[in-house]
Amino acid sequence: MDCKKAERFLLRSYDTALEPEEKKRLQGHLEGCPSCRRKDREYREILGHLRPDFIPEPLPYFRERLLARIREKDKAAPALFGLKWAHRAVLFFLAVQILFGVGLLLTPREKTRELSRAERLFLQNENPLTETASLLNQQRAEDKNMMLIFASLDDRNGGRR
Ligand SMILES: [Zn+2]
Repeated sequence: MDCKKAERFLLRSYDTALEPEEKKRLQGHLEGCPSCRRKDREYREILGHLRPDFIPEPLPYFRERLLARIREKDKAAPALFGLKWAHRAVLFFLAVQILFGVGLLLTPREKTRELSRAERLFLQNENPLTETASLLNQQRAEDKNMMLIFASLDDRNGGRR
């Protein structure tokens, strides 16, 4: 048996038991071949790390230390908890905004709430007071007209006098 074949037998032997004849032949090769014995040792070591029944026991007090760390994390949790809720609040706010926007789009124009005069002016970025001021100015102009009329009447009267 050459080393190549011996290796194949070795690999198979880790998964399933070899035939008695194969096992004997492999054993014979390993006894005379230090290189294949080393390979066998290495493979077994690697497999020992992979197999669940070879998983090493946790260090002493591992569980206690782990639980302590979990408890510490729980203490720090409220901040995370708040963050989570802030995140949800933002999502909720966005959802409300979207719903509101959709609602506005779906609502027929006639049904939309009538804005008050001041609100409309405010939305048009105008100062509601300027219009009042212009009204006052108009008033003043009217007053002026009235005054002129009266003045002219006075003039006429004065002429008659
Ligand atoms: Zn060999």
